[in-house]
Amino acid sequence: MSKILAIANQKGGVGKTTTAVNLAASLVATKRRVLLIDLDPQGNATMGSGIDKYDLELSMYDVLTGKCRTAAAVQKTDPAGYDLLPANGDLVAAEVELMEMSRKESRLRDALGEVRPDYDYILIDCPPSLNMLTVNALVAAQGVLIPMQCEYYALEGLSALIQTVESIASTLNPKLEIEGLLRTMYDPRNSLTVDVSAQLMSHFGDKVYGTVIPRNVRLAEAPSHGLPALNYDKSSRGAVAYLALAGEMNRRTRQAARA
Ligand code: ADP
Ligand code: MG
Repeated sequence: MSKILAIANQKGGVGKTTTAVNLAASLVATKRRVLLIDLDPQGNATMGSGIDKYDLELSMYDVLTGKCRTAAAVQKTDPAGYDLLPANGDLVAAEVELMEMSRKESRLRDALGEVRPDYDYILIDCPPSLNMLTVNALVAAQGVLIPMQCEYYALEGLSALIQTVESIASTLNPKLEIEGLLRTMYDPRNSLTVDVSAQLMSHFGDKVYGTVIPRNVRLAEAPSHGLPALNYDKSSRGAVAYLALAGEMNRRTRQAARA
């Protein structure tokens, strides 16, 4: 059965979309079947996957509002090789329309039922807020992957997210857990980074991924070519780090299955 992970942090610019796109490509490289869901009206994961958000026949707007079957909106990415449920500005309207619907928090979970058996991993790139779209992601998911930059206010920002996760876990989705915290744009020469990183470890223990994602210009350049770093410059430090993360995630998934 597939593992559904919400990539969430209500702070913008922490590396959610970069992680979503590059982890999707890296999991494919480890022979896993992957669906990436763009749940941000900015459509950055869509563009970064080489799919034009201004030219979508069907998108997550149609899926969430019940205007099409989920599978009908899925697109194959090339050369990365994962499947994508794309999004664009229309998603803003979906968030508004959801408010009027029954089971408004569970629309995404319900929509994924039909495609779930086709994948090993389903990754959801969340918007930078704790809105109804993010709530839908947290209700659909089993795990939350939290990308974060190790800077001064990072830990403070985490508490609102963790409260939201706990409240959803105690009501709509008892299976929901923090899957892992991922340190992004990591610079070991910066002493603040190292301090915050140590605090993170003492607070969250082995929930913190051993893999860190370095600041790497290839990760920032690749989206303008519509490519994950792995397909843009496979020997770049960014591409290699996300491959290591995919390996760590597969290892953890196997260990959890044995436990
Ligand atoms: P979010 O989705 O959380 O808003 P993004 O993934 O879009 O964050 O990242 C914000 C910006 O930082 C983007 O311009 C992205 O290219 C850049 N970026 C993200 N991760 C890295 C990294 N490890 N090294 C260099 N630039 C990065
Ligand atoms: Mg983003």
